[in-house]
Amino acid sequence: MQSFVGNPDAIVIGGGMAGLAAATFLAKQGKNVRLFEQSQAVGGRARTKEMNGFYMNQGPHALYRSGRGIEVLRELGIEPRGRVPSISGAYAIKDGVKHTFPAGLVSMLTTGLFGLSAKLEAGRLLASIQKIDTRSLMSATVREWVENQISHPAVRELFLAVFRVSTYTNAPELMSAGAALEQVKMALDKNVLYLDGGWQTLVDEAERAAERAGVIIEKGFKVESVERTGAGQERNLYAVRGVRLSDGRRLATSTVVIASSPTVAARLVEDGEHPLLAKWADESIPVKAACLDIALSRLPNPKATFALGMDRPLYLSVHSAAARLAPCEGALIQLAKYLPPDDDQPPESVERELENLLELLQPGWREALVYRRFLPDMVVMNAIATARHRGTKGRPGPQVEDVPGLFVVGDWVGEEGLLVDASLASARHASDIIARYKPAEAQAAVR
Ligand SMILES: Cc1cc2nc3c(=O)[nH]c(=O)nc-3n(C[C@H](O)[C@H](O)[C@H](O)COP(=O)(O)OP(=O)(O)OC[C@H]3O[C@@H](n4cnc5c(N)ncnc54)[C@H](O)[C@@H]3O)c2cc1C
Repeated sequence: MQSFVGNPDAIVIGGGMAGLAAATFLAKQGKNVRLFEQSQAVGGRARTKEMNGFYMNQGPHALYRSGRGIEVLRELGIEPRGRVPSISGAYAIKDGVKHTFPAGLVSMLTTGLFGLSAKLEAGRLLASIQKIDTRSLMSATVREWVENQISHPAVRELFLAVFRVSTYTNAPELMSAGAALEQVKMALDKNVLYLDGGWQTLVDEAERAAERAGVIIEKGFKVESVERTGAGQERNLYAVRGVRLSDGRRLATSTVVIASSPTVAARLVEDGEHPLLAKWADESIPVKAACLDIALSRLPNPKATFALGMDRPLYLSVHSAAARLAPCEGALIQLAKYLPPDDDQPPESVERELENLLELLQPGWREALVYRRFLPDMVVMNAIATARHRGTKGRPGPQVEDVPGLFVVGDWVGEEGLLVDASLASARHASDIIARYKPAEAQAAVR
């Protein structure tokens, strides 16, 4: 076996938004940092495909304007540029029929989605949501909250749809009501941004920030395992000592940040036999979606730009109606089905369901079709923030306590936020802990 070479202060495994952010913060502390990304490009799930002037994120992506993620991006010198989607042209779909989406006072009064007493209940709840103490609801499920707080079945459906669109999670029996309500509060507070040029703009700027800070990024290199000191070196028992790469190289370091999924993290350490990492991987239930991305030469119905299913977990949004994502006359539409954890519907039938929704909102879309892409099984978030684990408050990491020098970051880690907010918040938090961490003992073990 090849002996250890090089000696970076820290190695980051994975070049998605979490890995890029963690590496940059560590380099800014003056550390010599190497980042390994197995693909030929960084960005992970935040990458955007560009085709003839259309910018297609991997499924619908929206950045929360009051989330922790945007704060961390700004700390990195990145200012996301985009537009807030409008609520006019929004529909609630029930029994295959379009109704005005009850987003504000006027639409609440005019919608045919439900009757007067249901409207009053929905209005009252929406008006009081910012006052809800979410911390006390972390261990309650979304289903429990909805059944305890809402009496009209149609209003329950509306709130379940709002929870789905805000969290991507279609698992009311598992999802923490506190974590879901925090997300809804953020959406109602300052809404979201659709980014001009897609999320690739964040990826490109994050890569540049990492390089400016001095991070050495190696693309096309997979890390095969994280190696640790063996038993017998008493005080440094099982501390990190380096990584082994797919090309056979072994690099020594005292600090490793794994910026990938819980399954990858578990596999990298002791071949999946490390008890704590194996437990985190076992307990994580991924949040998944089927996505249909559609590029059109023109939008058949410019007045219908958003739809949310009430009785079906479906989403449609014309992202190009807000952000610059398509050439002049063209339109970029993103559709999604929020998949339940036990989903077993054949992908072809999901695709048909999404096409039917598109036909309802944009009849004649096929004649204007430039490009389509169906992604049947995307991992949106690596773990549901479950009530059983106190929502975001019981999530693992970023420190792996019994392996000195080992950290995890990503959208399944730490106490803050969901989606990319969690990825970026955990990257920031891990770098703070590492700044205080004294690797001298682990360093001695490496040598
Ligand atoms: C359909 C969809 C819709 C979404 N919508 C939103 C949204 O509206 N708002 C929002 O905030 N978030 C959204 N997200 C989530 C957001 O994209 C992710 O949370 C974020 O991009 C995750 O970044 P990450 O760095 O944590 O992980 P990833 O992007 O998964 O990056 C992990 C990286 O690690 C690399 N890697 C893995 N193993 C190894 C190894 N052994 N060696 C080297 N490299 C390795 C992978 O190749 C990958 O590049 C959405 C995601 C999807 C899929």
